[in-house]
Amino acid sequence: MSLSALDTHAHLFHPDKFAKVPRSQSQPAICIASQFEDLVKKVKELRFKGAGLEPFFEERRKRTKAIRDSVRPIEHWFYNASKLKERANEELKQERKENIIKRLIALGYEDEDFVTRFDPEGWKWKHLLEQTRAVSERVWENIRPELEEIIKLRRVHARRQFWEIRYREREREFVRIFIASRPRIDGLPFGKIFMRGELGEMRFFHDILHENDSRIPFTEDRWLQVFDLVPDAITKHAKDIEQYCVELINKAYAYTEEDRKAIGHPLNIDNDELQLDDATEDEDRIPTCLLFATSLITGGLDRVESYTRLLYRRSIVHFNLVTGGGSAWRFDKERCSIRYHSVTVASRLLKHLQLPEKTSMAYMMACGTDFRCLTCLRASKATSMTWFELVDHFVKADGKFNDQKRIIEKSGLKIPLLNDHDLTSEVDGKLVARIPRPTVDLMPLDFSMNRYSQLSMSLGGKELHNTDFSRAIDECDGEPEYIDLGNLDVTRMSESCPMCSKLGYLHVHYEDSLGGMRKHMRTRHGTDLKETLWPNK
Ligand SMILES: [Zn+2]
Ligand SMILES: [Zn+2]
Repeated sequence: MSLSALDTHAHLFHPDKFAKVPRSQSQPAICIASQFEDLVKKVKELRFKGAGLEPFFEERRKRTKAIRDSVRPIEHWFYNASKLKERANEELKQERKENIIKRLIALGYEDEDFVTRFDPEGWKWKHLLEQTRAVSERVWENIRPELEEIIKLRRVHARRQFWEIRYREREREFVRIFIASRPRIDGLPFGKIFMRGELGEMRFFHDILHENDSRIPFTEDRWLQVFDLVPDAITKHAKDIEQYCVELINKAYAYTEEDRKAIGHPLNIDNDELQLDDATEDEDRIPTCLLFATSLITGGLDRVESYTRLLYRRSIVHFNLVTGGGSAWRFDKERCSIRYHSVTVASRLLKHLQLPEKTSMAYMMACGTDFRCLTCLRASKATSMTWFELVDHFVKADGKFNDQKRIIEKSGLKIPLLNDHDLTSEVDGKLVARIPRPTVDLMPLDFSMNRYSQLSMSLGGKELHNTDFSRAIDECDGEPEYIDLGNLDVTRMSESCPMCSKLGYLHVHYEDSLGGMRKHMRTRHGTDLKETLWPNK
């Protein structure tokens, strides 16, 4: 027989026609050889009988379609069935886990004993718990010794981590309660300058948070039980800060005494203040040595500040939402020190300002931004400064001068250099000035603001004395000098000083007017604009 008929319908017998079941990409087509052979046989047989092939093929097509149509429902059913099985297994595992934990709790074990996150690899805890097999008495007796052994190991292995978790929770409780109690704490003497972290570091409080390895929650009741100890702790802490600052200031005054004598501005610090009869009154008094204009502490951001400014800064830490009342910052370490040079500079500045040596800090702060450096004052746009900024300005100017002097000496450059901020030079009113305006209602020697209770009213809110921090624009510097421009390159000269530029990019000095540059070259280098030395320099 000819196979041409078969050839005609060859596409119908292609294995893929019979294996049209959808399959994943990676799965190869499946064709059962015997079926194919049966088919070929059947076709031959029909041919032989002379019967038409069409009804047979029609029948075949119907069956193929039926198979194809049933694939999706079958797959769906299969997927659901396996999901159901999975879920049932999960439920069985959960049941087993709960059953085991219940039994362990009955034996006296606690929550932490069941925490697996710190277990090293290889511990069989999960393997024992997460099975589908129910916990019969026999199963329980089999697994119990192993579970207890793991718990025993876990308690030793993760002891530190478990304690840390507990301690952090105690701390969170403490922060919550402390913040809620803030109004009550603020009402106590020295309460406003007290920070949460400082209480946390106190011995008695430390013990409370650590009691029974930090297992006891810190509740409102426990807080109330210890609150009686808080007022004394706060006062003692404030006095520690005060004492530390007094020592710092006294050391600075002792160290700078010779310098201050040399400028005829010695400050006799009266340390033998009489103790007041009333202990509360005495406690409330701020030591006078902390209240002078020269009593400058170097606080935050490495800038000078007063003792009361330091207390003010502590009092507003509560408003920081991130720290929720501040962690303890150590007044005796990084945040608070003293630079002796600042004290000398302040003392000299007072002399230049023609203010008495014992001028109070309160007075200087009340002056707001009334101070200005006449050397840096150019044309009519110079901004004025606060007392702290003025001191910082001169301290920095001194530092800059010394740096530049060193560079010139080392490099052998021939650049004339003068200290244009030299406070030791004669007091001739050319270095520093105060804007004459009637903003200050205090006298320079007024120390009546020397009580913590007075100070406390301004803490935690509007800053003490600094009532006017807006920059005063000075407009009374007069007309710029007349300059004969001659052949000078005006553009270049009004940009940067050619002599300072030779000292390196950090020392480039800019001026935005020719008058300013002329003044700079005269006061800094002793030359005119053509870099020619003045005859008297
Ligand atoms: Zn200046
Ligand atoms: Zn220069």
